[in-house]
Amino acid sequence: MEAYHTSRVCQAVFLLLSACVSRPALANGATPAGTQADFSRQVSTLVTAYCPCAKCCGKYADGKTATGTDAYTRGAAVAPKLISYGSVLDIPDYGRCVADDTGGAMRNAAKRGEYHIDVRFPTHKEALAWGRKRLTVTIWSSPP
Ligand SMILES: [Zn+2]
Repeated sequence: MEAYHTSRVCQAVFLLLSACVSRPALANGATPAGTQADFSRQVSTLVTAYCPCAKCCGKYADGKTATGTDAYTRGAAVAPKLISYGSVLDIPDYGRCVADDTGGAMRNAAKRGEYHIDVRFPTHKEALAWGRKRLTVTIWSSPP
């Protein structure tokens, strides 16, 4: 499932590449990338919200995220180019979650060099109530 209409083929290619390319160790050689929250940064980002429903996800509303996790659990849609899948995000008013989905709006923002995160709620009502917020989010991950 994707938060907005996008190409599933591109998604599959991305996941395939991610699986094949081993992630490099950090420059200081201390901790292998991705094994723990070993790197953090803070970014100002637009944070919108969505739920697993067809209004939010269109034809991708299959109850699964782009990475195969349960779309009825909390999580966030991101542009993998800017935020790697599996990154832990600390989002004010929402809490801690994992970047496990993507969407066209997030990837289009990334093309303009802008961050956009879509947080996931189990119901459409909760997603609507969130609205649009400009927040400083802490991203715990290795650089993508
Ligand atoms: Zn919805």
